[in-house]
Amino acid sequence: MSIKSFHPPQRVLMGPGPSDVSPRVLEAMSRPTIGHLDPMFVSMMDEMKALLKYAFQTENELTMPVSAPGSAGMETCFVNLVEPGDKVIVCQNGVFGGRMKENVERCGGIAVMVQDEWGRAVDPQKLEDALKANPDTKVVAFVHAETSTGALSDAKTLVEVAHRHGCLVIVDAVTSLVGSPLKVDEWEIDAIYSGTQKCLSCTPGLSPVSFSAKALEKIKNRKTRVQSWFMDLNLVMGYWGGSTKRAYHHTAPINALYGLHEALVMLQEEGLQDSWARHQKNHLALRAGLEAMGLNFVVPEADRLPQLNAITVPQGVDEAAVRNLLLSDYQLEIGAGLGAMAGKVWRIGLMGHASNPRNVLLCLSALDDVLGRMKAPIRRGVAVDAANAKLAG
Ligand SMILES: *Cc1c(COP(=O)(O)O)cnc(C)c1O
Repeated sequence: MSIKSFHPPQRVLMGPGPSDVSPRVLEAMSRPTIGHLDPMFVSMMDEMKALLKYAFQTENELTMPVSAPGSAGMETCFVNLVEPGDKVIVCQNGVFGGRMKENVERCGGIAVMVQDEWGRAVDPQKLEDALKANPDTKVVAFVHAETSTGALSDAKTLVEVAHRHGCLVIVDAVTSLVGSPLKVDEWEIDAIYSGTQKCLSCTPGLSPVSFSAKALEKIKNRKTRVQSWFMDLNLVMGYWGGSTKRAYHHTAPINALYGLHEALVMLQEEGLQDSWARHQKNHLALRAGLEAMGLNFVVPEADRLPQLNAITVPQGVDEAAVRNLLLSDYQLEIGAGLGAMAGKVWRIGLMGHASNPRNVLLCLSALDDVLGRMKAPIRRGVAVDAANAKLAG
């Protein structure tokens, strides 16, 4: 055997995640590994919790990163808050809502699905109707930013509707956190999870979560044990919990947490409002270029997510061939369609560190070239100027 060290190429990641990781984060992750109960590490954990509270805009005591990717944050919310027999309304407008249904059923809950068109926001009126028809519902769950379609839902209104009917609310904020306005306390969200590889500019593998006092009360008063030992928050809190002595639960992913800490320090330096504004500005520049080229967005303007731009593939264009050329000739990754949208759309991410003018211009000029070479029906040579005009404005 003479397998050598793995040296990945330097790509530009403009898909649905992972997105470009800041060099500061990568550097932080290469610092010396220390023990997971080392006092220096424990004080870093406390800083991490404070920084995550800022990112989520919450004072929730139980705010921490789950030691696994976004899907594990999702599962942590469901296994802790859903007991066998509980009715849960899941609002679905894309792929990730379907995963919520899976989670409810695997917890022994009864999932009532409220379906919305893919590429549109969740309709609060449909939720209201479903709650009236199902007065025994315990939990409502929805995805704030559907990464499969690029649609943003009105989390504040959906939570209000659910609370009027006495339900707890689980929100998927994997793609929205830091990229779009999100206010956990002001909007009274009960349980929320995110991921590190989307707008946090960090590597994949961690899932920040936050639980309100009301959610914690439900967890503490469960009639049945949480079916997952690893994700049982009653146990995890012994390690991540407040002021009491930390007890071993699992070995924290030390260096990955250094990376998240650095990403959150960077967020603090930029400021949350400025981060939201940056994502919006770069989205508008990309949009100006794409539309000048003659390409169309899947999602209507009012429901559009700045950090995930779903574009309809023009008639007669081989969508996979375009992505392959972008990758081989420009080291640029964009995303394919997912689920019902496979083969029909491209998903261009402008997330976190990757949401910058250089990436907007690279993506537009690369698409101009590749689509032109493939004789796609686009207007050539206009996209970069249109984007630059927006960036200057
Ligand atoms: C990416 C994503 C997830 C899953 O996160 P992983 O880190 O891939 O497990 C869940 N929900 C949404 C909306 C996502 O975009």
